[in-house]
Amino acid sequence: MKIAVAKEIEVCERRVALNPDTVAKLIKQGLEVSVETGAGERSYFSDSAYEAAGATIISDTAKLWGEADILLKVSPPQERENGGSEVELLKEGAVLISFLNPLGNPVVAQELANRQITSFSMEMIPRTTRAQSMDALSSQASLAGYKAVLIAAAALPKYFPMLTTAAGTIAPAKVFIMGAGVAGLQAIATARRLGAVVEAFDIRPAVKEEVQSLGAKFVEVKLEEETTAAGGYAKEISEASKQRTQEVVAEHVKNADVVITTAQVPGRKAPRLVTEEMVAQMKPGSVIVDLAADQGGNCACTEAGKDIVWNGVTIIGPINLPSSMPIHASQLYSKNLTSLVQLLVKDKALQVDFADDIVNAACITHAGEIRNQRVRDALQALSTQIGTH
Ligand code: NAD
Repeated sequence: MKIAVAKEIEVCERRVALNPDTVAKLIKQGLEVSVETGAGERSYFSDSAYEAAGATIISDTAKLWGEADILLKVSPPQERENGGSEVELLKEGAVLISFLNPLGNPVVAQELANRQITSFSMEMIPRTTRAQSMDALSSQASLAGYKAVLIAAAALPKYFPMLTTAAGTIAPAKVFIMGAGVAGLQAIATARRLGAVVEAFDIRPAVKEEVQSLGAKFVEVKLEEETTAAGGYAKEISEASKQRTQEVVAEHVKNADVVITTAQVPGRKAPRLVTEEMVAQMKPGSVIVDLAADQGGNCACTEAGKDIVWNGVTIIGPINLPSSMPIHASQLYSKNLTSLVQLLVKDKALQVDFADDIVNAACITHAGEIRNQRVRDALQALSTQIGTH
């Protein structure tokens, strides 16, 4: 069974699918691992470190992809510089495991199905207890929550901690975190470690205790509807509830030095939490970091991938923050990938068991078909859209 680690060609992607430590573990289990020349370079893992772990280094991209039984990647397959898609490099019947963004870009699923590839999308791993070690969205969101606070602290024209000095006393920064899921909780913990006074808000009342246990104040908004869906995720709320939450949070946004937004409802555009009017009420010099920037933004003023100043407020819309911490991001992602590989490979042979809920949820294409109904719907919606233009 040959496992291959591709070099990422997406320019903004510094992570690598496996680090040398996990390569050594897979080899110990009797699997062969090939790594493309320079695959770990931008994560500071050298070819010689992979070689020392027992991997074969391959410089010929077509050979690496073409010989792989399981190809591991971070970013979805891309168009290659010299033409053609990376998907075409895979041999028919091979397995691809990567972030695939199949709901945002369902065309890639069609390409994979056409090529008879069995593909698994790391975004589709369910957030269940058994799947925790494979949950790449969580491992990477935690990195993003941490980095968002550091970015905010660097952009804020103030200290975060309270300081008593001979030259006077500095009041601590006030940080307001909106959305207390994986990224939000890590943002709370990081802001607290830096000495800020932290408040947090979420529509799911279940997170109140977690927020408080991290030393933050929970901003409670009592809503007359169920806000939690199956699997513990948030549900989209009604217009009346949106109005009610905006009334309550407006005051907290106004008083904050830093607002970090991390709200999401799976499969939907990011909920709009911070309006232009709210930004206009903030103190000049305040900072907003919007982690939902690439899904439309939680803040009305956000521009994805840009830092802008609006009415004296700096609004930062970072994309792919985990890639800015590639050593640890790759280490955690490697663990997520190897856990999934171990579920799929038994006695050195591939055994895809669709009765397993994790396998069933994460598998996007198999035997020439798109297996996932939501991806099929997204593809259908896209072709209708193209047809009407
Ligand atoms: P998560 O699902 O764990 O948490 C999202 C939280 O938002 C949930 O607790 C949910 O209850 C809450 N929420 C939903 N609607 C809300 C509303 N109207 N008001 C308040 N809270 C609401 O998600 P996560 O893994 O923590 O990711 C959070 C966001 O960060 C996502 O948008 C994700 O795509 C993004 N992210 C960005 C980067 C980056 O580099 N920019 C990296 C990783 C994740």
